Amino acid sequence: MTKRSDRRRQERAAELWHAEQEWRAATRCSELLAVDTDISDRKWRLFALACCREVLTLCPEPWHREAFEQTEIVVDGPNPAAPCRGNSQLWDTYNWSRRWGAWDVWYVRPHSHHSLQSPGEMAAERALIDLALWLEGKRSRHQIFQNVQLALAPGDSTEAVQEREAHDVRFTDVLHEIVGDPFGWIDFDPSWRTSNAVSLARIIYATQDYSLMPILADALQDAGCEISDILDHCRTPGAHVCGCWVVDLVLGKP
Ligand SMILES: [Zn+2]
Repeated sequence: MTKRSDRRRQERAAELWHAEQEWRAATRCSELLAVDTDISDRKWRLFALACCREVLTLCPEPWHREAFEQTEIVVDGPNPAAPCRGNSQLWDTYNWSRRWGAWDVWYVRPHSHHSLQSPGEMAAERALIDLALWLEGKRSRHQIFQNVQLALAPGDSTEAVQEREAHDVRFTDVLHEIVGDPFGWIDFDPSWRTSNAVSLARIIYATQDYSLMPILADALQDAGCEISDILDHCRTPGAHVCGCWVVDLVLGKP
């Protein structure tokens, strides 16, 4: 270990210490998004998907759902390390002509012939397209999240602003559900990955059937796990989404 890399490691440890204080003090999702953590790209992609999934019902056209389903496959598929190939598939799905038509409507004729009627629907579609652009490095996760908030509560009224703030607070739960503890304080013993626990986690991941979570807790406890954060997460009723940090931990997904 050279002195330079040693110093860099110490600097990163100090940065992470500050990041952890900011993370624990944050009460809004928009604040959490701004914290400099080592959260994996995959986790951020799953969070962006979870956000967009909430506004999918506002997007009426078949290509919206098709594009979203393709995105789900791309961002957490068998080969997530091949983003270029994945993204080109995504672009095909998004369909250039429709996409540029929509673009034209947003920026040139915001209330003309497009099938999207309301500001909420337009913001929802913008969130989906920002998701595609983000995967190409042309948008930020903040922009996706802002459009999701606008889709859920469009307009400038006091009520809309308050509703967006409420969603900002609510989405902290979604982000925590996916990233868990991003500072590595959960010390997961690999011996807890028994065949029973892993096969349960695989079923949950494949089917998104989270009613099995308490059984996963039992399997982990049988294997010797007594970490309350993990067991409580499985046993407490709550909204789990694809990327649930406990399921990922058992499967060894980053
Ligand atoms: Zn979960």
